[in-house]
Amino acid sequence: MTAHAHAKLSASASARWLKCPGSVSLCELFTDLTTEFAKEGTFAHAIAEQKLLTYKGDIKKPTCTRRIKKIADELDKNGVWKKEAMRYTDVYIDYINQIALYYSVAPYIVVEKKVDFSEYVPEGFGTADCLIFAGDVLHVIDFKYGKGVAVDAEDNPQMKLYALGALHDYKLVFGSIKQVKLSIVQPRLSNISEWETPADSLRQWGESIKPTAQKAFDGSNEFHAGEWCRFCLAKAECKARAEHYAKLAQLPKHDPRLMSNDDLAGYLTLTQGMDKWLKEIKELALTKCLNGENVEGYKAVAGRSTRAFTNQDEAFSVLTSNGIDEALLYERKPLTLAQAEKVVGKTEFNKLVGDYITKSAGKPALVPASDKREAVTNQQKASDVFTKIKE
Ligand code: SF4
Repeated sequence: MTAHAHAKLSASASARWLKCPGSVSLCELFTDLTTEFAKEGTFAHAIAEQKLLTYKGDIKKPTCTRRIKKIADELDKNGVWKKEAMRYTDVYIDYINQIALYYSVAPYIVVEKKVDFSEYVPEGFGTADCLIFAGDVLHVIDFKYGKGVAVDAEDNPQMKLYALGALHDYKLVFGSIKQVKLSIVQPRLSNISEWETPADSLRQWGESIKPTAQKAFDGSNEFHAGEWCRFCLAKAECKARAEHYAKLAQLPKHDPRLMSNDDLAGYLTLTQGMDKWLKEIKELALTKCLNGENVEGYKAVAGRSTRAFTNQDEAFSVLTSNGIDEALLYERKPLTLAQAEKVVGKTEFNKLVGDYITKSAGKPALVPASDKREAVTNQQKASDVFTKIKE
């Protein structure tokens, strides 16, 4: 597994520090506790790296198998290993293969490359998962293993910084790059997002972020809260974030009695993420109360206790030997469609029971207007929506 130290202004956190330069110094007060999800992602990247090195011919198949086994064993020890990582990393390799095959001359592929974008961001560097140099085109491909939110390649600052780093590091060998194509491969969400931009526009963007990057590096006190706060280590304790939500009270009212649609839109925009923030500050206050600190007006109490068998098998055996019918103690429940598909395997499952599956339109959901999905109204016929889903 390729290991690199983290930059103070990392590419992966750039969506946050470009919006809130003060977050960099504030985050230094907190410890980053790597979650199971992050661990899972690190290992999936390590597997993808080995497969890509094999694809390129840098290592032989037996070496790749041996290394992947070592990674899997390590994951097993941590209880994180899941076979699906093999399938999902294949999607990433297939995607790279498709790009490579598109060109008549074999392109130059670089795997897990540390790139230097310090020309734009003080001491900035990061690790790009895959770079492909093909004629006057540079491809930057990022493998994302998360399955929470689909990540968009369009204007993605992390990807743009990797690209700037690659343009800088390879300018002597591939100085003629004119176009940059950014791709995010996120197989667990079936998300492949692509975006392209001229290399010169990218350089202009790099110039434009220099003042903010410098401020962030120097430990600025400029804070701006927004949806990027969810990736901030300071998010529960941050005063700027709390004040952001407190602004709600100052929202101008268009009608003193009833909310207009403009009022409604304003409240929805201002309260985005508020539910999560409330949960986080409640957890913070509980931790402080449990630590014996005074949070005026609040205290920690013991929750409702729950009962559990110490040994369920033995307990049930006592019940059945005392005349309780076993059928009363056990439920027989079918697996959900997704669970059954996982057990059988996608291809086999579709071959055997694909004709028994129908897909209906999902429940309507409210999202910001910036969401890429098409808007629906009650005026649209359900069949129209259904046809679109099938397409
Ligand atoms: S929580 Fe939000 S506003 Fe506060 S420092 Fe972090 S990114 Fe900035």
